[in-house]
Amino acid sequence: MSAAGAESVLHVAIDSKWYRPRGGEPVEAVRDLAFSIRAGEIVCLIGPSGAGKTTTLRILLGLDTAFEGRVAGAEQAGIVFQEPRLLPWRSVEHNVRLGLPRERRGRDLDGLFGRLGLMAWRGSYPKALSLGMQRRVALARALADAPRVLVLDEPFVSLDDTAAAELRSLVVDTVDQTDMSVLMVTHNVAEAIEIADRLLLVSRRPASLIADVPLARPRRTRDRAWAEATRSALAADYPDIIAL
Ligand code: ADP
Ligand code: MG
Repeated sequence: MSAAGAESVLHVAIDSKWYRPRGGEPVEAVRDLAFSIRAGEIVCLIGPSGAGKTTTLRILLGLDTAFEGRVAGAEQAGIVFQEPRLLPWRSVEHNVRLGLPRERRGRDLDGLFGRLGLMAWRGSYPKALSLGMQRRVALARALADAPRVLVLDEPFVSLDDTAAAELRSLVVDTVDQTDMSVLMVTHNVAEAIEIADRLLLVSRRPASLIADVPLARPRRTRDRAWAEATRSALAADYPDIIAL
């Protein structure tokens, strides 16, 4: 399944996923969606709202097992959802430690807190933090146990550009330093073009794979002209998904 030489860390093959709400109409959320992710790769999943993207992430994380198909490799995933989901009555430090298995909960996290710019906030409670800082804590919690795969569900929405850019570069730096892989759902095509090695485009519901688009240019050498040309080419090929 993977390109020559690169190890695949995550496999997803969802044949179909139906929600059958009690007393409501069944809803098919995903159909024929298969992909793999290689070590050290950043993959962005893009598709319309309500397509079935969050459903796909929940399935591959093992949070939803009522589907047809198979998934493998997400046992050691770190997760950041759209809402930071921090415990309000626990300190930042405690919230991050809760991302570790019990036997490693006492370990030294100075490096992680330093890297994420959270040193001064360790003793603070989530309420005292801006949304951007809360997301940063959620990211620290997801990274605390050095996951092989980081799964992000629209993690930067409603942040200002600066806060979003800071979080993006924290994710990219971690990938560059550790060979972690990232699967990120995003609405923000510009963001995806900035950081992804590959884009997965999915249709409206039921989400199925429309295109798997590699972005071969090294991240460091991407500039505005390249980003705009890439976006225009995508918008021409996939106008239903990428707005012009
Ligand atoms: P996305 O993340 O792409 O916006 P979701 O995966 O959250 O989409 O949802 C896909 C579809 O499945 C939507 O139509 C949504 O209303 C429906 N859906 C999601 N969760 C449930 C649920 N627990 N029960 C019934 N329908 C659901
Ligand atoms: Mg969603």
